[in-house]
Amino acid sequence: MPAGPRKRIGRQLLGGIIGVVVLGLVGVAGGWAISPYLPGSAVVPSVSAAPPSPAAATGQPSATPSATSSGNTHPTSGPSVYSDQSVLAANPLYAVRTTPLECAGLKLPIPSGKALEPWAKKAVSCLHQHYEPIVEEAGFELTVPTITFFADSIDTPCGEGSGAFYCGANEGIYVERGVYDTDARDRLNTIRMLLHEFSHHVQQRVGILDAGVGAEREDYPVVSRRIELQVSCWTGMQLRDSTWLKWTDDDEAWLKEISSSSSDKLHGSARSRRYWYDQSVGESTFGACNTWAVDASKVD
Ligand SMILES: [Zn+2]
Repeated sequence: MPAGPRKRIGRQLLGGIIGVVVLGLVGVAGGWAISPYLPGSAVVPSVSAAPPSPAAATGQPSATPSATSSGNTHPTSGPSVYSDQSVLAANPLYAVRTTPLECAGLKLPIPSGKALEPWAKKAVSCLHQHYEPIVEEAGFELTVPTITFFADSIDTPCGEGSGAFYCGANEGIYVERGVYDTDARDRLNTIRMLLHEFSHHVQQRVGILDAGVGAEREDYPVVSRRIELQVSCWTGMQLRDSTWLKWTDDDEAWLKEISSSSSDKLHGSARSRRYWYDQSVGESTFGACNTWAVDASKVD
């Protein structure tokens, strides 16, 4: 296919993928399938979502905000989200220090079944309170993302998805029912999933998602890995810096295990995941997770 049309199609796909990939898809052998956490296995917090079809990516006129960057709500302050490297590799957020994650009003362990849904909504509210001063210190405004539970799969402005994901076009977190609500380890995985998806929302509000997806200097899987590995790194920092969760050595061993023993094209190799896990240990500034300033070999 000629370079021109291929490139154009690529851009359309990128726009459509923004939510879905950013969501935290898990590409598994044999295609796209749900991969909930299982003891001893290694998965990312989000489970899979179907990659958007070209039709979904290009969008029909009736489709709501297109999943391209123009459909997103941009921060009203801070640097231009289109200045690319200044947003990606030198984002003002990187100078901000994390603060301990406290959701004292949220009871643990996480409830299961239907009770999980109101709990998760409160958790999103808590994460907003936690992140708001951080994002504002960086010069941006943090909105409250919506959270929607669904069965099997759901249509969004970013395409159809399943599992857990974030859609930048409407700033929505989506969670499939029945995936994150079973045993004690799932408790941590649920919190990790919510932190992961909320961190994509933070990326959205500071301009990283738009700038990353709009960047044409790299192929999409590389951009996806920079986005996902950054979120995983931030999530690790937030999890262990929490007296609310009473983070233990066992929890850390679990995080290390799942951060270094699985691999997929959109989230990174086991080696890259381990690298960014290591980067997050003992760190307290968001810049420790600057996946945009490193060689592609560190996000392979
Ligand atoms: Zn993700």
